[in-house]
Amino acid sequence: MATLELDSITKTFQDDNGEIVAVDDISMAIDDGEFLVVVGPSGCGKSTMLRMVAGLESITAGTVSLDGRVINDVKSQERNIAMVFQSYALYPHMSVRENMSFGLEESTDLPDDEIAEMVSETAELLGIPNLLDRKPTDLSGGQQQRVALGRAIVRDPEVFLMDEPLSNLDAKLRAQMRTELQRLQEDLDVTTVYVTHDQTEAMTMGDRIAILNDGRLQQVATPLECYHEPANQFVAGFLGEPSMNFFDVRYADGVLVGDALEYPVGPDIRASLEGATDLVLGIRPEDVELAERVSNDHDFATVVDVVEPMGDENTVHLRFETGNQTLIATADGFTRIAAGDAVTARIPEDAIHIFDRETGEALH
Ligand code: ATP
Repeated sequence: MATLELDSITKTFQDDNGEIVAVDDISMAIDDGEFLVVVGPSGCGKSTMLRMVAGLESITAGTVSLDGRVINDVKSQERNIAMVFQSYALYPHMSVRENMSFGLEESTDLPDDEIAEMVSETAELLGIPNLLDRKPTDLSGGQQQRVALGRAIVRDPEVFLMDEPLSNLDAKLRAQMRTELQRLQEDLDVTTVYVTHDQTEAMTMGDRIAILNDGRLQQVATPLECYHEPANQFVAGFLGEPSMNFFDVRYADGVLVGDALEYPVGPDIRASLEGATDLVLGIRPEDVELAERVSNDHDFATVVDVVEPMGDENTVHLRFETGNQTLIATADGFTRIAAGDAVTARIPEDAIHIFDRETGEALH
């Protein structure tokens, strides 16, 4: 069992301009065997949070516990946590075999032949037994990545921490390693915290994702929950490509009114908007439907600005006929549509999101 618990952890750094709060009062629990992906924009505190768990960064406030035991003051080497870095951090003068066995030799009293056995089993698991006598400098990026993983796995840790481990690989290899890593994590069933800024990795790899912004935890839930039921406007805008469309609107008497649109809402939504005025209306590009003509009050006359063919689908940039606002829609790749066409954009009520404009909190 290895349940990892973060309880109100905070990290502040001092620099010439004063105090930086890199991680701000984050609490969450990562279950035994769970694969948690931590995602967020550059500088949001992902690496700092991971380094606090690894014991590579001191904890300003709060506690990190492993199976109920507070480990704030346990030295990094004694935490039974293995970390894989973006840079791989392999020793260039050692062979792959030595890179993989080094940690075990340093931190355990296991006999050499047992260590050798563990290294070769792990090398088999990762498909690199033929590389054991090579030096890291003679390996490709993907092979180095496997060695770095092997070095972590061979120690049989209670927790894996991975900091953007795939970001130095090209797109094709990254996609391949993504599925391999997932499979490996499932087989090994080790509690894993995986940091990335790549939303494909976030959406596809984790049991749950934790989304950070400005050092604060925005939401922690399954990828689909975060996507379909974002806790706030930041999460809604962060996940999804192209991003969710947002319109500033005012709410009164059952109607959302913006520069370009007037959007009446039904009783369910009205109930959740009681007392609200300044809001943001959100709609994902794939939820915008393109219709022939305006036939209900959720249809809007637009003109096509630009069509970006993506192969299987088109990204269509639309401009409302009234106001000066744009709307992005995704349409089937076969849709015949061109710049200058008049198109009706349908915004279905069951697909809209509504946020408080000041706090960003999702109201619907
Ligand atoms: P990236 O995706 O770019 O790696 P990140 O989300 O991992 O970013 P962190 O590296 O954790 O972000 O940094 C969070 C904040 O803390 C940033 O503002 C960063 O400049 C600051 N920071 C990190 N380490 C230090 C340090 N040693 N001294 C001062 N400030 C630091």
